[in-house]
Amino acid sequence: ASSHVALSPLEPYNPLDYGSRLQSLDRVRKLNQRPLTLSEKLLYSHLIHDADNWALNEIERGKTILRIRPDRVACHDATATMALLQFISAGLPRVQVPTSVHSDHLIVAEYGAKEDLTRASSDHREVYAFLGSAAKKYGIGYWKAGAGIIHTTIFENYAFPGGLMIGTDSHTPNAGGMGMMGIGVGGSDAVDAMAGMPWELVCPKVVGVRLTGRLSGWSSSKDIICKLAGILSVSGGKGKVIEFFGPGAESLGATAMATVCNMSAEIGSTSCIFPYSEAMGRYLSATKRADIAQHANKFKDALLVSDPGSESFYDDIIEIDLSTLEPHINGPFTPDLSHPLSQFKQHVEERSWPSRISYSMVGSCTNSSYEDLLKVSHLVTQAKESGMHRAKTPFLVSPGSEQIRATAEEAGILSTLREAGAVVLSNSCGPCVGQWDRKDVDIKGAESNSVISSFNRNFTGRHDGNPSTHSFVTSPEIATAFAFAGDLTFNPTTDPITFVDDSGSPAEFRFAPPTADELPDSFFPGNDLYQAPVLADTSEYKVDIDKNSDRLQLLEPFKPWQGGNANDMEILVKVQGKCTTDHISPAGPWYNYRGHLENISHNMLLGATNGFLPNATSLQMVGRAENPLTHEIEPVHEVARSLQSSGIRWCIIGDHNYGEGSSREHAALEPRYLGGVAVIARGFARIHETNLKKQGMLPVTFADPADYDRIKKGDRITLRDVDGDGLQPGKQVTMEVRTKDGEAWTAQLNHTYHAHQIQWLRAGSALNHIKKTLLG
Ligand code: SF4
Repeated sequence: ASSHVALSPLEPYNPLDYGSRLQSLDRVRKLNQRPLTLSEKLLYSHLIHDADNWALNEIERGKTILRIRPDRVACHDATATMALLQFISAGLPRVQVPTSVHSDHLIVAEYGAKEDLTRASSDHREVYAFLGSAAKKYGIGYWKAGAGIIHTTIFENYAFPGGLMIGTDSHTPNAGGMGMMGIGVGGSDAVDAMAGMPWELVCPKVVGVRLTGRLSGWSSSKDIICKLAGILSVSGGKGKVIEFFGPGAESLGATAMATVCNMSAEIGSTSCIFPYSEAMGRYLSATKRADIAQHANKFKDALLVSDPGSESFYDDIIEIDLSTLEPHINGPFTPDLSHPLSQFKQHVEERSWPSRISYSMVGSCTNSSYEDLLKVSHLVTQAKESGMHRAKTPFLVSPGSEQIRATAEEAGILSTLREAGAVVLSNSCGPCVGQWDRKDVDIKGAESNSVISSFNRNFTGRHDGNPSTHSFVTSPEIATAFAFAGDLTFNPTTDPITFVDDSGSPAEFRFAPPTADELPDSFFPGNDLYQAPVLADTSEYKVDIDKNSDRLQLLEPFKPWQGGNANDMEILVKVQGKCTTDHISPAGPWYNYRGHLENISHNMLLGATNGFLPNATSLQMVGRAENPLTHEIEPVHEVARSLQSSGIRWCIIGDHNYGEGSSREHAALEPRYLGGVAVIARGFARIHETNLKKQGMLPVTFADPADYDRIKKGDRITLRDVDGDGLQPGKQVTMEVRTKDGEAWTAQLNHTYHAHQIQWLRAGSALNHIKKTLLG
């Protein structure tokens, strides 16, 4: 039909249907006509109405679990392997929701784009072959290595006002610059959505940020989020959507808004969103999506901006005046340590941070828009015209996508930067995510040094694995000015740059604040590194997995629950104290095995403290357990394997908030794979608890947390009321403990299973259940 508007020019067959979103929203507010915030509109217009009858007055922020159908799922190469392996094991013919995979995280930055891509294609050959072939078979769009960083590619091709997407990366909120709610999730959530299952989210709270005034001089949108991080801290946004409003929001370009939303991950928020604006329309038109802009204009008030009067429904309001906002520099070691530029020099000196800058870096998914790169080149040109031809520090540029690289190349931006000594890296994550083979400092010797970048995250070791690299994040223009100054005590608004000119004489100049157009006259696509989803029948297509691969392994579906599974279980470990998913399934060198469950399971609980062992917190004991069969102290995973091969069921005892931290599903897959049945803890982090349920493990909590202390080495545990109809939502489970000496005691346990989740347990995993439901 002539009114057909596609979700993306790359997927002309997927229509953008604002009408049905509006209907969904109207159903929610049928009985209660109060004004809605934009966040509410976006969430409620994506609710699934089959089983639930959502009513606005019954939805409680922070409590109600929303069941949502996202418009899109995206994964990057480091998370896609396990997500796709799980999807494959579900046995579905193709994804049920538009999905894309992006090869951006695995490329190591070393010499520059060409050499680094050559190295990546050899180092990661089998992973890329797997991703490409699985994408072809299952109807997924695949962006090959060098095509771009997940969030930039999404923004350029898929993000649209009023959309809702999930991505297996914490910076998925980047799409908020296009009025689309992007939410970072774990791989198993992505798999659910890809399989067409509802995706569940605790209804977030909403923090309104009113922007007034207008940016000027050296200030940029990066400073909005750097300042906000200082106000809210790294956990201040937890369980909340940050929603911008006010006249200042209208003054920002789309990519400038994306920068803010991208870095909202640094305050731990669920997502971050800007209302639909003319700037978004301009960006859509510039990226061949003028039809989406026209369509969006018709639905703007109803769907794409907050209702008048909704401000009183924000849980909190923060005010930022852009006219008085100073440039900010955040760090080191945490993105919420926020310094206004005018105080930065003093803070550097007071705290004795290394003031000489070892590297300046611009770009990444956070800050590599046309406007960003043009401002950077404007500064470089100023320096050149003043007689300073090269930056004082090594200078790296990470374009966010092939499109922005080609556009910046055409505009002469990249050649200007190269002349000043910049190395243009491949369109990938590189130093932003620790994929940086730097040779200028002694990493192993933890040589102290400072780097400044336009990236978003600066936790210890983030860029180079060196715990003594002091990383500061700021705007691209400030990072560039500092590249010419070479020192953190510089302030471009007050200080001149000193250098030695061509005749060998000392010289100086002052930077004027950089200026740039928001958008180019036209974008250049560059090399085509996109593999479109195959629409034809792909049942004969094969997925490339080498049987001898040590990085990829097909998953065998887990066995369904059998009566008596939770009888007479050994206790593998009694975890004591903090146990994050990093303790359960550490990262670092294990990163390469994320697609191989057998191999990665050798890291299970290597970081956990086992309260059953003497000197439990000593380095020799962490990650170990006593094998009940041999009484040897061994790595936990070896004990688990030994029990499994002897047909002995086992469980884990956990402490408070077990499984906090990243949402990686390996932390739930590994114990299940090695024969675990249950985790009995004082408490769970929400995502890990759900992940355990999804993999068919049984997470339960002590009704009386003091019972944790009564569990002793050699005890055996039986969980009653978990077979057949015994397990019911809201009904406690009885735990029987038989001690080594033959004594017995019982205690009550709680669980959080909903009725539909109990079916996951019965089927052996959520995926087995989906398969049964969809394929019969
Ligand atoms: Fe994440 Fe950095 Fe890559 Fe962006 S560039 S997706 S922040 S690792």
